[in-house]
Amino acid sequence: MKGPVLGIDLGTTNSVVAVAGDAGIDVLTTPEGHRLIPSVVSFHPSGEVLVGRAARDRRLLDAQNTVYSVKRLIGRPFESREVQRAKERFAFEFAPSASGGVLVASRGETYTLSEISAFVLREVRRVAELATGGPCTRAVITVPANFNELQRSATKAAGRVAGLEVLRILNEPTAAALAYGYGSGSRERVAIFDLGGGTFDVTILELAGEVFEVVATAGDTYLGGDDIDQLIAEQMAEAFLAHHRYDPRGDRQAYERLRAAAEWAKCQLSAEEEVQLRIEELAYGEGGVSLDLTFGLSRQGLEAMAMPLLARAFDVCEEAMNVAGVRPTQIDQVILVGGSTRMPLVHRMVEDYFGKQPLATIDPDLVVAQGAALQGQALATSRAKSRLGRVTLRRVSQVGMRPAAAVEEVQVKGDPRAAGYAPPPPPPPPAAAARKRTLMGAGPGAKPPTQRPAPPPPPPPPPSEVSLAKPSEESTGLPPVPADLNEAREAIQPSPAMVIGDASEPSGDLPGLDIDLPLPDDAPPPALDPAGFGAPEAAPAPHEQGGLVFDEPPPAGGPGLAGPPPGFAPQADPVAPPLLLDVTPLSLGVETVSGYCEHIIKRNSAIPTEQTRIFSTGMDDQEEVVVKICQGESRRLDENQLLGEVQLDGIAPGRRGAVQIEVTFIIDADGTLAVRAVDKNTGRQQSIRIQLIGGVEDENIDEMQQRLEEKFAGGAQA
Ligand code: ADP
Ligand code: MG
Repeated sequence: MKGPVLGIDLGTTNSVVAVAGDAGIDVLTTPEGHRLIPSVVSFHPSGEVLVGRAARDRRLLDAQNTVYSVKRLIGRPFESREVQRAKERFAFEFAPSASGGVLVASRGETYTLSEISAFVLREVRRVAELATGGPCTRAVITVPANFNELQRSATKAAGRVAGLEVLRILNEPTAAALAYGYGSGSRERVAIFDLGGGTFDVTILELAGEVFEVVATAGDTYLGGDDIDQLIAEQMAEAFLAHHRYDPRGDRQAYERLRAAAEWAKCQLSAEEEVQLRIEELAYGEGGVSLDLTFGLSRQGLEAMAMPLLARAFDVCEEAMNVAGVRPTQIDQVILVGGSTRMPLVHRMVEDYFGKQPLATIDPDLVVAQGAALQGQALATSRAKSRLGRVTLRRVSQVGMRPAAAVEEVQVKGDPRAAGYAPPPPPPPPAAAARKRTLMGAGPGAKPPTQRPAPPPPPPPPPSEVSLAKPSEESTGLPPVPADLNEAREAIQPSPAMVIGDASEPSGDLPGLDIDLPLPDDAPPPALDPAGFGAPEAAPAPHEQGGLVFDEPPPAGGPGLAGPPPGFAPQADPVAPPLLLDVTPLSLGVETVSGYCEHIIKRNSAIPTEQTRIFSTGMDDQEEVVVKICQGESRRLDENQLLGEVQLDGIAPGRRGAVQIEVTFIIDADGTLAVRAVDKNTGRQQSIRIQLIGGVEDENIDEMQQRLEEKFAGGAQA
């Protein structure tokens, strides 16, 4: 008995789980009646690990051992700027993993971020099993559309550690569109505007009867409600400083309490015109006298503060509109997703930008999990039985596919990676960087690969540290007002009925205005193999070097229900219908000339998709070829996200250049990378290893699973 397939919205702030059945979609609730499960994990002194609300309660009491917002960091290399910044700001401790990823350290043990997410997923699974009364072992898990390979793989690994078979990694906006558009049968162009706690993204889809086409997606991984909280907290800190001549920002716990209060105030102001709050004993003055903060904020004041920040979301919208080739007014329906879209200012700005009101019948908190549940149901049942059986999502417009006849060779004379080769001077401008190309077997349509102009990646704004301080009922005797934001916001602004299923969550008491927050109690990837593609003695000028040899068109793909364009690979599972044809948000590339990358799969390509390149040896009897892989839009390797490397081992002996290995890069339906390699001469499958930065090795999954089950205490109150 496998049980239903869970649709899981694994959020930065909150997670939601739903299941789809014949009767409709159920968003599952915790035994206490909550639908939103905080994505927070706390390592209790008892050795148990608390997850969800119980964990969030511990944030203020034990910040060092309470882990939150890992979705902002999962799948990021330890050396990345985001992680380094978070390391400075977050109260919990970080350490590098052997594979260059991030570990969280607590109470003498370390955990990968996949494990931390696994604790959240384990709690989600527990909630689902209690709610459905049976085992739940399969899931569709959603991720932001702009998650890269490392982030997707780490999320998938988290699912496995939590004891879930992850049937699909689904993009959040695609899930939202599915929940909205299933069965409507209309022709519409919709925009999904998702502003959560930490991230923003916008996706444009065209729905035409049974076909959903993702036209464009763009996002900002550092734009969300947390950033607004931070602005308010700063203002509070300034007010406190002005009044008491004491800066609470120097005290981490005090600052976390400010942030909790700030978030509370923000949520209140979605319904109220003004809030007043008081935080007692934020600090102590001379003689141990309690220094309290009294603070008032109007909605107008909040909006003035938040406006410039929110304006950034519309720059991202512009980007998506440009890719889609439409203007905002050509969007028929705007769907709001994420808790931060409850702000009236967001509604107004959305309305101004798109020239129409956003849809009011979708619950922004639940719609992603609902879509995931629909997809899960579709994957679990045959097409005939599935509610989704006749829906196809696909991407057909301006995907950078090569013409079928294009076969080109880039001949390599030397390899800068070969031993003893001096690094080349600064790369020439792209026009001058033309490599020597010899067209081989190319038809008249052959042409060199088109390179997207490389827009410099926008510098990520500083990660805002998320410190949702929470008062504890035990310690204050007050209702859990400011921290129980989920209830608060539901009480403040009851969401309208959802199209599918029941969206109402039991709402808590409306919070009072006095807040009393308690005081606390308690690598760089391995170096490339010198045996690269070229012989060092033959090293020519740098601009003539490269590693890649051929580019062949992708094999003709399997059909989607609505006849997807050529280049689509058939779905792996012959039983499951090709339900969702989504797009990859980032280009996948390989290193060519040292420091340069060539894009193999372009961003916004419909997935699943695959592209083949032929690599040849640069030395006689070369046994191994190592290819660096990256994701991103720049032509410079170091401006993209390095994913790791693909290593081709045990190459049959042969003269330099005579051995050709056909390497196929596949982005599967989850948006994750798979690689296949075949020796062209022998037709034999070539041994291959993909080493992802921070990747979780298969053999470690069991171990992690065991540790998780030993420690997991779920949402039990400590
Ligand atoms: P995520 O997708 O990051 O898990 P959610 O969609 O759950 O996030 O949104 C969480 C964010 O929404 C938080 O920043 C929270 O403060 C904000 N939020 C929730 N309710 C409201 C509200 N009523 N008004 C303004 N912001 C809200
Ligand atoms: Mg979300």
